[in-house]
Formats: sequence, C-alpha cells, structure tokens
Amino acid sequence: MILLNAPLTGERLGYPELSGLDMLELFAFVHPAQFMVPTPKGLATALGLAVPDGDEEAAQLLHHAAAALLSRLEDPAWAEREGAWASAGSLGRLRWPWAPVVTERLSKPEQSQRWLFSRLPEWQEAASRPPPHPVMPGREAVLNRLDELTGHGAEERPGQRDYALAAIEAFAPRQRRDSPNLVLGEAGTGIGKTLGYLAPASVWAEQAGGVVWISTFTKALQRQLNTESARIFPDPMQRAVKVVVRKGRENYLCLLNLEDALQGGFAGRAAVLAQLVARWAAYTRDGDMIGGDLPGWLPTLFRRNGATALTDRRGECVYAGCPHYRKCFIERASRASAQADIVIANHALVMVNAARGRETGNIPLRLVLDEGHHLADAADSMFAAALTGQEAIELRRWIVGPEGKSRGRRRGLAARLADVSSYDQDGGAAIAAAAHAAMALPAEGWLQRIAEGSPFGPIEIFLAAVRGQVYARADAQDAGYGLETEAAGLSGPTIATVEPALIALDALLRPLVTIGRRLESILEEAPDWLDGPARARIEGAIASLGWRRDALSAWLSMLSRLGGPADPDFVDWLAVDRIEGREVDIGLHRHWLDPTRPFAQTVLKPAHGVLITSATLRNGEDWTTAEDRTGVRHLDAPTHHFASASPFDYAGRSAVLIVTDIKRGDIPQLAGAYARLIAAADGGTLGLFTAIRRLRAVHARIADRLARDRLPLYAQHVDPIDTGTLVDMFRDDPRASLLGTDALRDGVDVPGESLRQVIMEGVPWPKPTVLHAARKAANGGSSYDDRIIRARLAQAFGRLIRRADDRGVFVLLSAAMPSRLLSAFPPGTPVERVTLDEAIVRVKALASPPPALSTGPQLGHHAIP
Ligand code: SF4
Repeated sequence: MILLNAPLTGERLGYPELSGLDMLELFAFVHPAQFMVPTPKGLATALGLAVPDGDEEAAQLLHHAAAALLSRLEDPAWAEREGAWASAGSLGRLRWPWAPVVTERLSKPEQSQRWLFSRLPEWQEAASRPPPHPVMPGREAVLNRLDELTGHGAEERPGQRDYALAAIEAFAPRQRRDSPNLVLGEAGTGIGKTLGYLAPASVWAEQAGGVVWISTFTKALQRQLNTESARIFPDPMQRAVKVVVRKGRENYLCLLNLEDALQGGFAGRAAVLAQLVARWAAYTRDGDMIGGDLPGWLPTLFRRNGATALTDRRGECVYAGCPHYRKCFIERASRASAQADIVIANHALVMVNAARGRETGNIPLRLVLDEGHHLADAADSMFAAALTGQEAIELRRWIVGPEGKSRGRRRGLAARLADVSSYDQDGGAAIAAAAHAAMALPAEGWLQRIAEGSPFGPIEIFLAAVRGQVYARADAQDAGYGLETEAAGLSGPTIATVEPALIALDALLRPLVTIGRRLESILEEAPDWLDGPARARIEGAIASLGWRRDALSAWLSMLSRLGGPADPDFVDWLAVDRIEGREVDIGLHRHWLDPTRPFAQTVLKPAHGVLITSATLRNGEDWTTAEDRTGVRHLDAPTHHFASASPFDYAGRSAVLIVTDIKRGDIPQLAGAYARLIAAADGGTLGLFTAIRRLRAVHARIADRLARDRLPLYAQHVDPIDTGTLVDMFRDDPRASLLGTDALRDGVDVPGESLRQVIMEGVPWPKPTVLHAARKAANGGSSYDDRIIRARLAQAFGRLIRRADDRGVFVLLSAAMPSRLLSAFPPGTPVERVTLDEAIVRVKALASPPPALSTGPQLGHHAIP
C-alpha cells in the first residue's frame, strides 16, 4: 500500500498505527534536505508532475510520484547519489519497506564512497577579530544601501527611508560605559522594517569591521531575514561567510549522538529515522534539525521517536574530547558567527550569549532586536529557575552517568574528566565527592515512588511534600492539567523537608566549585599533556560546570527562603505539571517579577548600540509603555524614539466582526460557528484558541463536515505533524483552514489568498496563574490585563493583512468584548457587533473566494516586502 504521510492518514481513519510504503520516507531518502509540502499538491510540485484535482487523481499521483522518484535512482544526473548505496543496505537490514525496490535500482559504486563523517567539511580556527572601528554610517551611504536592497527604481517608501535613518543612531560610537545607544522603533506592518534596519546594519558592519546580531522571537521571521540577507550578499559563497543563522544548540544534530544511533544505539523505526537523518546530514546546509532544512515532517513520521536524542539536549557535549569536534555543526556555527557581518539569532540565544559569552568571546554588542514586544516573554523564561524532579535528575545523570539498565554513550563526570583525576589529586577527590553527593538527587522512578508515598533521599522527600501541598490547595484538580500554589504559608512538615534538601544540594555545590577551580589552575599550569584539544575540552568542561553551579546556587537561594519572608523581586510557586491527568513533573519555580530587569542588566547594559523594534511596540499607548516592556527604563542611557504607521488600507481591506450570540463555554455552538464561518469564507481561515481542550473539541465536531465540502482542516495538537509543516500546508492550499493556539497567533506569516479570515474563540484573557496574579497586582491591576489582551488581539489581527493587496475579516466570538479593548485594532478598521447569521453574510462578502486552485509552485517562505 502506497501512502502519503502514514501517521496523518492513520489518524484521519481512526487507526492507532498504519504502515506501508510512505512516499515521504522515499522522498527523504532520494532528496534529503529538500523542501516539500507533504500533501499531494506539494509532492507533485516538488517532482514537477501535474497537480491532482480531487482525491481520485491524488491516489493516482502517488503511483506516478513513486515511479518518478525510483527512476531518479537510475538517473546519472541524480545529485544525491553519494552515500545512497551504503544507506540502502543498512535500511534493508532494518526492514525498511522501500529498501528492496530502492536497492534493485542502485548500482554498486565502483569506488568505496566516503562515509558521512569524512565527507563533512572541517571548520577552521580563525584569529580573534579586532574591536570594530568607532564609525557611524552616513545618511547617504545608508539610503544608497537601502536603494540597492529594495531595487533601484522600486516604489518610493518614505516610512522605510525615515526608519532606516532613525535606526542609524543605534550604530553611533558609544560615549559612556554601560550606556548603549538605544533606539526604540515602531514600524507598522508594511513599512518594510527588515530592509530598513538591514541597510544601516550592513553599512556599519562593513565600515566598522564589526558584527551585528539581529534577533527575532519567531522562527518565521528568522527564516525571512535569512532570505532577505541574499539582497545584501547575492553571491552565495560570500553570503555563507558574511551571514550566519544561529539557534540554540538543542536545534542542531549532534554527530556523536548520530554515530551512536547508527551503531546500534537505536532500534526498530527509530533506527530507520537515524539512517534517513544521516542521509540528510551529508547534504544539509547547517545541521539545523528544527526549522532548518531537515523536513519538519520527517521526525513526525516516526512519532518523534528518537529525533530529540540526536540533538545535544542534555548538555553532554564533550567538546574537543569528541571525535567529530572539528566537523560539529554547533561548533561550526559558533565559530562562523565570530567572523560574520550579520548573525541572525533569536532572543533566547542572544540572552544566553550575553550571559555566558565571555567564555566564547561571542558577546553581542551591536544588536537589532526585532519582534521587541516579545522580549519580556523571552527574558521571563531565560532568567527563571526551577528545582523540579526532571531538572534534578538531569543534573544527576550529567554527574553520575548511566546507571542501572540505561545505555548509550552518556558518560559521567568522572569518565569525562578521567585525565584530570589522574593528574590532579585534589581535582580527583572533588570529582569523586560530587559523584557521591549527586546520589542524593532523584533517580529513575522518582515520580512513581512519590506517588506511592515512598520517596527516597532528601530531594525526593522535599518534592513529595511539594506535591502534597499543591494537592491540598489547588483548584480544578479534575481538569487534568497543571496545578500550582504560591510558595507561602507552607505547612510545618513541608518546611521540615527543606533543611535536609539544602544540606544535600550544598554538599554537591562545594565539590563542583572545587573542580572548576582545579580545572582553571590546570589551564594555568599547562602540563605537558595539555595539547590544544585537551585545553579546549577543559575549557568546555569549565563552561558547562559553570552553568550547573549557577543552577544549583539558584536552587539553594529558592529553598532557603521557603518559610521566611518573600523576596519582592521574585515570584515563587509550587507546581505539579500534568498532561491529561498524568503527572510529569513536580517542583519549586521562581520567576522575576519584572524579567526585563535582568534582561537590561545582562543584554542592554554591556552593549554599545541596540535597536528594539516591532510593529506593536507601544501597544496603542505611549513610549513609557514601550520603555517598560523592553527594559529600557532600567538604564540611564540616551533613548531615541521613532514611529511610522502602517501604509495599509485597513479601513478598506479589513473588518472586525464581534459575534455576540455565541454563549461562552457552549462547545456545540462554538463548533457550529467555526464550521459555518469557515464554509462562508470557503476556507482560508486561521482559527485561534486559548485552550487546547476546546480546540480539540471543536476540531472533532467539524473536520468531517468540512472535508465533505472539500475544505481541508488542519489542527495543531490534533494532527501528528509539526507546526511549521502545518503552516506550510495551510499556505499551499487556499481552501485549507488551520486551527491552533499561541504559536500561530504570533508566528504565522501567510500573505496572499491563503489567509482571508481569522477567528478567535473569545477574548484572550490571561490565564490566572500565581505568576500572573503577582504581576497584575504589581502593575496596576485590570489595566495590566487589558494591556496583555490588547497585545494579543493586535498580534492575531496582524496575521490578516501582510501585503498591501491582502484583504480579510477578523471574527471574535464574544458576547462581552469590552469596548476599551478595541484600540487593539489599527485606527480606521471598521468594527461591528453582529449576530452569527449577520456575520456569515458579511464574511461571504468580505472574504472573497480564492481564484481557481493555483497550480504554480508556492514553495518556500514568502517574505513581507
Ligand atoms: S562536539 Fe559535542 S555537540 Fe558536536 S558532535 Fe561532538 S558531542 Fe556532539
């Protein structure tokens, strides 16, 4: 049976498992690292075949596509032949269903082929860069560059020119220590802000000989920037050196983990995935497994089985101790960024590098922070601390290594630093002491032991008390989702578990501090055996020890305040995380009341110049709001403000309909409204929810009904496929609709016909968590909530009109939408309160039906001009 996307097909048919000859697996083998939308249309387009019209033709297409792909194996011009023979052999031994037909078409190579790891290029060490020259780009140079980027003779855009000129201030030489040149720039959608800042940034990088970090919150914008950077450096060879995309290390393939998986570490389907990932690894641009050129759908075909184990999630990298260190994708990206003109990163990575970059000399000093309205969210996660069972067991594994039946290449601290132990007695003793102290941390089976009332060791006993305290107080225990309570007014028995936990963690911190000190002195003493690789390995160990020490110190500080007075800078709470009623983690959490404070200290203060920009920086209010949201107010630094309104005709091309006759909480009514509105717009709808539970309930009621009308419906949290691919599938079919939650509200960029209607299930109130309650109390009560809701509405509305010729309707299903929140929408946008029946009539008129199904290629991620 030939299938296209077995898990998705199985899910639609109601089968738990469905197997067969999946076209996607064959495509991944034949054309690794190539983009393809995993639908019949996408497959046909990728292979240059006729796009099928209807399901019958789609079924025939699978046959033709299989024949086309298999015939490529025999084509002498097939570009991805190298490595295929060996890979097909391994896949045959794993009983991959395609292996027999693939193998019979492959001819044995005359010479033995280079094995993947020898095929990959090595990165080269380069001399450190001198500090950038203190220059400021001239206005004329910037405007000329902007003309080059937009294309000479392009439509004159005064807003974009003004924006580019205002952004120059962020590139002026810094005049005072700890006082960066700050620019807050709000540029309405359609101004063309990305080219607006790329112009001064690239001129400065060229003239000063420095690097500019451009940071985004969403992967969609990161991808768009990478595409647009081609305008600055049209020559791909030059661009590869000058522009580097960087993500967190957990995004990249770890070659050591892959080698382990290929050599028996993985079994069954996970081993097939490892083989297909190895095919991709030989052809990838940068080794980025999440949002890079590994098709997002590939791991989901294997139910994500094993994909995360191929990245370096647990921080177990052994750096120069790794045989693949000189070919490692992570190391290559990190080195390349030190030499680049422009580094395209994300907010989290910028914060990590600002906090830890001293070790790598990679501190971002000239920054453009796009999607600046999300800085506080990114800082909130980055500067938080959590002493939970999962975090503690990770630390134990990192120190102790494999225990019991666990296998794989993981090694403990003692094994990783064996040469240090044999050389340095004190260091060796400290390593042994750390391994001994780590036995007090939770071990495998901790959740079960706690649930059964038999926790083992001081930390498990503390976590059991946390769990008891949460269940004693939390509401909505039947809902099956996470539970939490404030870390205040704790019971005597709970407080009694804190002291032993403190003693245990302190006993672990001490030897880790000693090891760090010993490693530093070995670097200073430079014994004979300390060659380049050993030095790099010890430097890596010092860095990763440092992060663990920081985590332990944060845990000690959180624990020691339990039972005492609260620290006004922080919000602490206890939580039991649950997924559909199943407990997955238990612990103590700490967030900053105002996370922009550590952000300002760590990222802004050391920088020389920072442009913070967004389409909604002020959130419809004044600049004080923008300064609060971005942490700028914590600095004593000159701040320039710039704003330019969107040139789009919102009044003429969009409308907001507030549907007032849908009762809150009435799922059948809600589902009926979604189905009728989607049908009225003929698809092309993005449906947004604030709760996964309601999203699933609505999807279950309407998917069949819409499918009968040939209106495909995709859904996050329902379809077994990653969000990026769902958006690709939605973008590629103007009759498709997509349901989702927060990530779609912020990260979907679908210009053109495919997105004509956005429906929100209600006013997006913030969740009433302990953290939210504390921030609300500290920030003006209900006006704080209003600010959050307005920002969310503005983001959701912002999905609708991405280009001047876009049109669409925003429908909010809410009987009680307060008028004060309407300022979230762009000035002039018509807003009407209507019944559902009236809304249907309006949607039919406003969301014009798509033209005949487009057959042209719509590959890639289109940029906003
Ligand atoms: S250097 Fe580290 S991340 Fe890179 S391949 Fe080796 S172990 Fe993996």
